[in-house]
Formats: sequence, structure tokens, C-alpha cells
Amino acid sequence: MPERRLALVRCKGIMSSNDMSIISYANQNVHELVAYQPGKPIEETARELGLRPEDIVKLASNENSLGPSPRAVEAMSRAACGMHIYPDGASFALRSRLAAEHGVSFANTAVVNGSSELIELLGHAFLRPGAEVIAADYAFTLYPIVARLLGARYISIPNRDKWIHNLDAMLEAVTPETRLIFITNPTNPVGSMVTQQELEHFVARVPEHVVVAIDEAYIEFAGEATDSVRFVKEGRNVVVLRTFSKAYGLAGARCGYAITTPEIADLLNKARSPFNVNAFAQVGALAALDDKEHIARSVQMVTAGRLQYVRFFESLGLEYVPSHTNFILVNVGNGVEVFRKALAQGVIMRPMAAYGLHEYIRITIGNSRENDRCIEVLTEILQK
Ligand SMILES: *Cc1c(COP(=O)(O)O)cnc(C)c1O
Repeated sequence: MPERRLALVRCKGIMSSNDMSIISYANQNVHELVAYQPGKPIEETARELGLRPEDIVKLASNENSLGPSPRAVEAMSRAACGMHIYPDGASFALRSRLAAEHGVSFANTAVVNGSSELIELLGHAFLRPGAEVIAADYAFTLYPIVARLLGARYISIPNRDKWIHNLDAMLEAVTPETRLIFITNPTNPVGSMVTQQELEHFVARVPEHVVVAIDEAYIEFAGEATDSVRFVKEGRNVVVLRTFSKAYGLAGARCGYAITTPEIADLLNKARSPFNVNAFAQVGALAALDDKEHIARSVQMVTAGRLQYVRFFESLGLEYVPSHTNFILVNVGNGVEVFRKALAQGVIMRPMAAYGLHEYIRITIGNSRENDRCIEVLTEILQK
């Protein structure tokens, strides 16, 4: 490093090197990261195309096109008048409610600023240089980001039948250095799922020194087909990750939670910042939990939309992955090109090149108007 700094000092005056020189002092794990790339925002797209935001269809981030529950909106509006007061740092009401909802005790819960924060907190709690993290191919890109940020080794295991977590192979990859295994169920960006039986078989054989993080961001769309909270009740080193961002339609509020053992919940609560979940998120999430009808309507919208896309893909003979989520992965030949062409028409989808899936795009299932528009634009692009 000193050599590099010297070179920069010599160049001073030729180039403004202040912000470059500081990089040589930075944590190299951070410096070498590629930042997480979210779906392209509506406002940005509207600006670039000279369109109104209302004319943009965003099907890129697996948001809920029905919006939040009206009860959540009302609760958050009422909460606005109390914004001069810090939120409850312990999220007491929300944690109590989540405990009751899942039939666990308060000590089994942790509430977080979106389950993205939970992934990071798991890293802080369990990873240090030399530790190993196991996940499946095409996993959520935040897992490798957090692993590398903390200097851990990230091990990606090829799927079985291309798209489904190979739990046996993940188990075989465990070493004494393994600290975390991420299972996404259903998976993102693929939409596939493993069964309860497969999970049980897997969890029963994971050694004591490994934490199994089961990320269930999309579980509501799978009809709660699995019960991973059961592993927590059995005292396994399992963390169930849940979020209010997808089916609950509260992505902007930033709220997620963990159901885990009291020991792990305690670590997560120690590692988080004091007021990580803001007051809007706490009351919004609480109210959203009361509105089961809204969840049912959201799931219904997604089920109908999924069928709409499947019919369309089959009519064009496109390869797609059967989905248990509110998005669908489809092979369009050149993902980035189709993404760009659709974007020019005001439809935002997600190219999959970052996952090495260059031929694919991921489309969030929206309402029927949005799906119709997306299918119309795709038809035009693909038939040329
Ligand atoms: C969307 C998503 C999350 C979390 O989202 P938050 O908004 O941070 O709660 C976590 N895991 C997966 C796999 C996701 O797709």
C-alpha cells in the first residue's frame, strides 16, 4: 500500500486524487464489492423517457401492485403526528404480535429494517474472515455481498434440475468453517421451491456449528406450503426470515423479522442499531397483520396473473420456470436486449445478467392492466 500512496502523491496536481487516495485506506473487502443493483426506479425511468410516472409499468422488484393494506395506510397516517418521538427500539407491540402469530415466545423474535438488514445482521453475528457461507446458484445477490463484506468465503452450490436447491450437495459442502447456509424458499429470482419433507431431512442433518437461514420472502404466495418455524420450536439453529415488503405491500416502509432461537435472536438484537425499525413501519406492519383479506386478495391477483403469463409464454413457445412466487423467470433469448427495448416503452422488468442468466428476464406479476401492457410490449419485441 505505501507504494501506491506514494504514486498518488506524485500525481497530485495532475488529477484530483483526494478521493482516490482514501480508497487505499479502505477495507478492501468493501472496495472490491459490486454494489447491489435494485430494479430501475419509476421516477428515474419517467425522467429519462420524458414520460409521466403514471405511464410507467414497473414489474422489476416483486412489489405488490395492490399497494399496502388500507388499514396499514390509515395506521401510518395517524402515526405521522407522533414523529417527534423516537420509535420503540424494542418493537414491543410488533414482536409480541408476531410471536402470537407464529406460536412462539417474544424471545424467539427480532424485528428488522427489511429482511435485507436481517441478512446483514446474520453476517455480523456469525461471520469473520475465514468463515464460510453456503448458498445455492442464482441466490439473492445480497448473500454474497454480505459474506464478502465480512471477509467470509461464499460457496455457491449448483442446483438439481437446474433450478431447485440441491440440499444434499449443500450439506456435503459443510466444513468446520461453515457458519451460515442460506436456503431461499421459494427462491428468488427463480421461483422454485423445496418441500417440507426435503427441508426436514436437511435440517436434521446440519451440524450444530452451522446456522440455517431460511429466507421466506415469498412464502405467502406458496400457500404456506412449508412450516419452517417448526424447526425453531424444536430448538434447531434455524432462522426464518420474513418480510412485509412483498405480499404485504410495504416495501417502502422497510420491515422484516426473524423467528429463531432466543440465543440467536439475542445476538441479532445486540448487533442491530438501536432504532432500526421506524415508527411508521412498526404500526404499518401491525395493522397489515390484521388484514388477512388483503393478503388473500394479493395472492389471488398473483395466481391469476401467473396463469396469464404462463399462457402467453406457452403460446410463443418460451421456456419459463414454474413459479411459487409473485414473479416469473422466462427465457427471452437476450435478456438485456429485451429489458432495454421494453424499458424504452415504459415497462420495467429485471434483466438477469447479474445472476449469469443472460437469456432470461424476471417479470414481477402485477395487476391485470400491468400484465396486459407487459405482454403487449413483449409480443411486439419478440415477434420482430
Ligand atoms: C425481497 C427479498 C428480501 C427482502 O426484502 P426486504 O425488503 O429487505 O425485506 C429478502 N430475500 C429475498 C430472497 C428477497 O427477494
